[in-house]
Amino acid sequence: MTNQLPDWSAPYSELPEDIFYTRVSPSPLTNPCWVDVNYALANEVNSLIDSTDQKILRAFSGCEPLPEWTPLAQVYSGHQFGQWAGQLGDGRGLYLGVSGGYEWHLKGGGQTPYSRFGDGRSVLRSAIREYLGSEYMHALGIPTTRALALVTSDTPVQRETMERGASLMRLAKSHLRIGHFEHFYHRQHHEHLRELIEFAIHQLDPDFDGLPDRVEQVFQRYIERSAELMGHWMAVGFVHGVMNTDNTALSGETLDYGPYGFLTSYRDDYVINHTDRAGRYAYGQQPSVMHWNLSCLAETLTPFVDVGTLRASLDRFPVFYQTAYRTQMAKRLALEADNDALSDIIQLLKNVCKTPGVHYPEIFSYLLRENWKGLSQPLKGLDTFAQLQSQWSSQVSKDLVPDARAASPSWMLSYWLLDRVIRAAEGFDFTPVSLLREALNGGVSEECQSAKVLGESPPVGDSAYHLSCSS
Ligand code: AMP
Ligand code: MG
Repeated sequence: MTNQLPDWSAPYSELPEDIFYTRVSPSPLTNPCWVDVNYALANEVNSLIDSTDQKILRAFSGCEPLPEWTPLAQVYSGHQFGQWAGQLGDGRGLYLGVSGGYEWHLKGGGQTPYSRFGDGRSVLRSAIREYLGSEYMHALGIPTTRALALVTSDTPVQRETMERGASLMRLAKSHLRIGHFEHFYHRQHHEHLRELIEFAIHQLDPDFDGLPDRVEQVFQRYIERSAELMGHWMAVGFVHGVMNTDNTALSGETLDYGPYGFLTSYRDDYVINHTDRAGRYAYGQQPSVMHWNLSCLAETLTPFVDVGTLRASLDRFPVFYQTAYRTQMAKRLALEADNDALSDIIQLLKNVCKTPGVHYPEIFSYLLRENWKGLSQPLKGLDTFAQLQSQWSSQVSKDLVPDARAASPSWMLSYWLLDRVIRAAEGFDFTPVSLLREALNGGVSEECQSAKVLGESPPVGDSAYHLSCSS
């Protein structure tokens, strides 16, 4: 077994127990079976996952943890929808340890002391959404948690209807959230907070280890990483849906896929999470929400760094974000990032997307690929598109086109595609999940036949789509 999980360690478990976490054994799922194993990722982390080995299936479904694992639930707190929510923590996920450069986390593994009123379970529907969503983001080159394997079961889980319990093996550089620091700061446990900050630096930013000004330096890096992430999200049209501070990773990875989605038409006020009545987490709000979340993080560092220094770093966020966004947009448009016409071209592109039936992610492909046929209504003859094309053609750098094509997806992970894949899986046909995952292992610039067949016809009357948080 050891060579299946090479170099296993559990550094988080070396922090004091019952302060930073509670040891918890997973609760078994009934009659588990594999939905899919992401063999390419397993390969990347040098892990042999033999899906015919019952011991592995039993471990990945919470029945019997592998001997190397150190299952524990981490405690954190957080601000939810702008309000202090107090203690939260891993309510349905368990840290298992580190292997292949990633933390392993079993999501859906049953109740923990932090479950509050929850059942500790994940349902198959939302586990598939996270499994494919995170691999799609990775294929787009966006920092994100990864999805290693997905199991379904006969365990009944009550949501709006009765659903199947599932478990997801999720990998991340780190699962530390802004909420981890907030937890100890708001309890005024500054010594524990300091211990956690040192742990975070050592785990994610070891080049700062031992520097006298490491806390202020690492804060600056959190700002840069988060700005970078927002640049990516905004350029591809990703909407997270629940950007609470307990869902915001210090690693700059996209974390906790709940009611997420991708823009179809371009709308700054697009809200995907239907419980978000005020639109706090609308697509266009995301960079300023991240800025606000980082101000919560800054507050936790005030026992160690003077406020003026923290504020100066925080104030740099908008500039970092603008640079990151422009860089991503330039890359996808095959333009130099310092091109003076970039802002105008971005504005023209947004204008095109205001036309009903035009899908934002496809505009790049229409520009970059001759005879591109997508879901959008024909763009030929559209004045706004003609303007965009003419401005863009006069500025494009031909040698950047291949990279731009590689970065622009040839298929979208639309909600209707996901719904169809989920429906198949609920009927025990897991092939679409595996086919999409396999396609994603090769990137997103190639056509995926399954995505094409399942995703080519948006529902009639397609309009803004909403999801609930009940995952
Ligand atoms: P989320 O909005 O999904 O990020 O969850 C917020 C908090 O609720 C986190 O502490 C989760 O671990 C916890 N939570 C979410 N769903 C469940 C569940 N089904 N059972 C127990 N805890 C949950
Ligand atoms: Mg969460």
